[in-house]
Amino acid sequence: MSTVLVTGGSRGIGAAAVRRFCKSGHRVFFLYEKETELADSLARETGATAICADVSSKAAVEAAFAQVGSVDILVCNAGISMTGLMSMMPESDWDRIFDVNVKGIYNCVNAAMSGFLAKQAGSVVTVSSMWGQVGASCETAYSATKGAVIAMTKALAKELGPSGVRVNCVAPGVIMTDMCANIDPEVLEDLRNETPVGRNGTPDDVAEAIEFLANARFITGQVLGVNGGYVI
Ligand code: NAD
Repeated sequence: MSTVLVTGGSRGIGAAAVRRFCKSGHRVFFLYEKETELADSLARETGATAICADVSSKAAVEAAFAQVGSVDILVCNAGISMTGLMSMMPESDWDRIFDVNVKGIYNCVNAAMSGFLAKQAGSVVTVSSMWGQVGASCETAYSATKGAVIAMTKALAKELGPSGVRVNCVAPGVIMTDMCANIDPEVLEDLRNETPVGRNGTPDDVAEAIEFLANARFITGQVLGVNGGYVI
């Protein structure tokens, strides 16, 4: 039984990962930002422990890890998206999306580090996006953060491999979660039609890939597209 910590675990892809790791018999903790009722309900359903902590805050993340103790598998899933022309984006939004999507991973991996090094073992799975691979118009900041997640994954895999820690990444395509709630249904339908497997993804499609990479003993530094073939 491993100790697993999933960031952004209260809903969407993170909640699917929490369900999967709980079903596999692990001791699971998850961080969430605001939605306490949803988090409590998932904790009751799965037996996982919910902790309210903003991943962009080093102090909040360190306090959360102090509650959890040593982690074997860390899933850096928490993320936010923002759309619109980059030229119209307020500086505060640019800073916020980098603070959550990129600095959040820096905070969480660093908080897990002493436990990893003590055991000379550990597994990190980061969550990027296909837009981090190919870029999306009107999602420049989001694409840039997700490109950074891919670069961090590869660099950390090289840096931490000698210490027994693997670092891999999933790059989801269109996954039907709250993050897609503001996308026009016609656009979602177009995206579905452009996807070779003929459907948009589910949170569990991504959770399946996260669990695979978390346990794949000779795989590190890899980016696994979970996008139904939309980006190949
Ligand atoms: P979601 O909006 O349904 O869930 C986001 C989760 O992140 C929530 O649990 C929320 O509490 C948490 N969160 C947000 N900001 C946080 C913060 N500052 N501190 C702690 N937790 C925070 O989104 P989702 O679709 O499940 O997305 C999960 C991840 O997958 C994100 O990194 C997202 O960028 C990525 N992703 C999603 C899609 C998609 O189509 N849904 C596609 C590609 C990548």
